[in-house]
Amino acid sequence: MSVIPFDEREGTIWFDGVLVPWREAKIHVLSHGLHYGSAVFEGERAYGGHIFKSHEHAMRLLRSAEFLDFTIPYSAAEIEAAKDLVLKTSGLADAYLRPVAWRGSEMMGVSAQNNTIHLAIAAWEWPSYFDPETKMKGIRLDMADYRRPDPRTIPSASKAAGLYMICTISKHRAENKGYADALMLDWEDNVAECTGANVFFIKDGVIHTPLADRFLNGITRQTIIDLARRRGFEVVERRIRPDEMEGFSECFITGSAAEVTPVSEIGPYRFTPAAMTKTLMDDYTAEVQPKAVAA
Ligand code: PMP
Repeated sequence: MSVIPFDEREGTIWFDGVLVPWREAKIHVLSHGLHYGSAVFEGERAYGGHIFKSHEHAMRLLRSAEFLDFTIPYSAAEIEAAKDLVLKTSGLADAYLRPVAWRGSEMMGVSAQNNTIHLAIAAWEWPSYFDPETKMKGIRLDMADYRRPDPRTIPSASKAAGLYMICTISKHRAENKGYADALMLDWEDNVAECTGANVFFIKDGVIHTPLADRFLNGITRQTIIDLARRRGFEVVERRIRPDEMEGFSECFITGSAAEVTPVSEIGPYRFTPAAMTKTLMDDYTAEVQPKAVAA
């Protein structure tokens, strides 16, 4: 299947406040964001013409930039309005949205005190992260070599471009071995998250998930915890040692792109996606649908 490169598509991209033709949404090679990773982004989905948790994503984008010591020159409300405009202009009802903010070109050393901050927003079709046919069978995950970094070494709560370097390497290694993705441990060898999604386990009707104080506390993760508790399921957020995976019966990963994706295998450990995972998948599907506004 041939895929159209992302810089050769049709449509418009919101770029520093205006809609520009898709192919003209370009930056200069001498951009601080490109050289030093001073860029932050979001990944979010629209369902039925409505962006799920758009405000939460806008707030996280603004916070991500503050962690990197820059301020995006738009308010959350302005970012939300821009995203709505991009979605509407795209003509898509179900779409993936990608806001990205980066430091420009005024200074090209490590210091970037005077650089302007840019923001672009694009939307495109992204049906399902993983092949839907095999979804309930569960995906297979490799164990990544890289660890999620200590928050004292990098602002790990930011959705910052630089944090994805080890994710891309880990995902490539996993894919080259035939896996869909890789599970990363933290620097203390606790279970952390996947390269672009959070992870949950189930044992004896109880849901266990790593404490998100050292990696991205996903908006989908928070939604799933809320949905599970609304169902009366017990959710325990705690440190999880890798050998505990032996005793878990179900496993799934969550993310705006991945949504709720069952897992059948992580390295030597095996899981059987079952009723609780299915319930949460269905609850999530229902939750993301646009809510009818009472007349
Ligand atoms: N961890 C990482 C590293 C991610 O890239 C993502 C996707 N944004 C997540 C977790 C899940 O976050 P969310 O549910 O907010 O999409």
